[in-house]
Amino acid sequence: MLSTRGLVKVYPGPVTALNGIDLDVSSGMFGLLGPNGAGKSTFMKILAGLLEPTSGSVTLDGADILAKPELHWPRLGYLPQEFGFYPHLTGEAMLEHLLALKGVTAPQGRKKLVAELLERVNLGFAAKRSVKGYSGGMRQRLGIAQAVAGNPRLIIVDEPTAGLDPEERLRFYHLLAELAADRIVLLSTHIVEDVAVLCPRFAVIREGRLLAVTTPAEARAAIEGQIFEGTVSVGELARLRAERTVTKALLVEGRHHARIYEPSGSPPPGFASSPVNLEDAYLVLMRLGALPRLEAVGG
Ligand code: ADP
Repeated sequence: MLSTRGLVKVYPGPVTALNGIDLDVSSGMFGLLGPNGAGKSTFMKILAGLLEPTSGSVTLDGADILAKPELHWPRLGYLPQEFGFYPHLTGEAMLEHLLALKGVTAPQGRKKLVAELLERVNLGFAAKRSVKGYSGGMRQRLGIAQAVAGNPRLIIVDEPTAGLDPEERLRFYHLLAELAADRIVLLSTHIVEDVAVLCPRFAVIREGRLLAVTTPAEARAAIEGQIFEGTVSVGELARLRAERTVTKALLVEGRHHARIYEPSGSPPPGFASSPVNLEDAYLVLMRLGALPRLEAVGG
């Protein structure tokens, strides 16, 4: 179990990036969903032992990981948002270098471990190619290879799918799901689909505070019967936005297919009830700061 209590981070400025985060995460995949600037990367860096919080505590299986973070690095895997690669190295040489930096021991030799890790993330075929020719998805997988080296208890993945094409994203989803079978994988993202696809539990963060810690089914149920769908002209959309909470507007053949949140349960003419999706729930949560029928968290 990973637990944080009263985690606060104030950067010089001062900017309060985290404003008291209490969170418990057990094995499996857990999502941290929030808009840009919400505090996700700050949170992830603290958990990875790379940034000191202003106050608060972090424990992993009961052990304080802030006191001596370097002792816990072997039990942690971290894939940052921006990964520094040496473009001229081959994938194999780059990974070997990263393992050396991380201090991963390889009783049967580092070369063997590198080959195994590359196979595991489906990069064996590109081991001898230089990293500069790797696609975004291949670079992410190389990052995951270093993160899983040493079989860590906790893997921290910060915004991994931004910039991946749909096929690469799917492949990356499969890899993450596999990793979460027997450890904690914490995934931060601003993409609701990442959570919908991967995470049985997730938290929503905004302005350094958790707005909800829930499951996709609970979040959807919290606004069931309150989402409606209809078609409006381009001109009508502005008025709809002014009067209602629009959770999605998609332009199709010159008209907007709009989804709206209507807590009264009575929609405007031409709108019909629609099953709630996670994106609706997230947008309503962002707009209201809490979801009806869902217990609020934090202070
Ligand atoms: P996210 O990952 O959700 O986009 P961040 O954790 O990067 O959010 O940022 C949270 C807030 O802290 C933002 O307002 C950001 O501008 C600010 N911030 C992040 N890093 C620093 C820093 N090194 N110095 C000052 N402010 C920072």
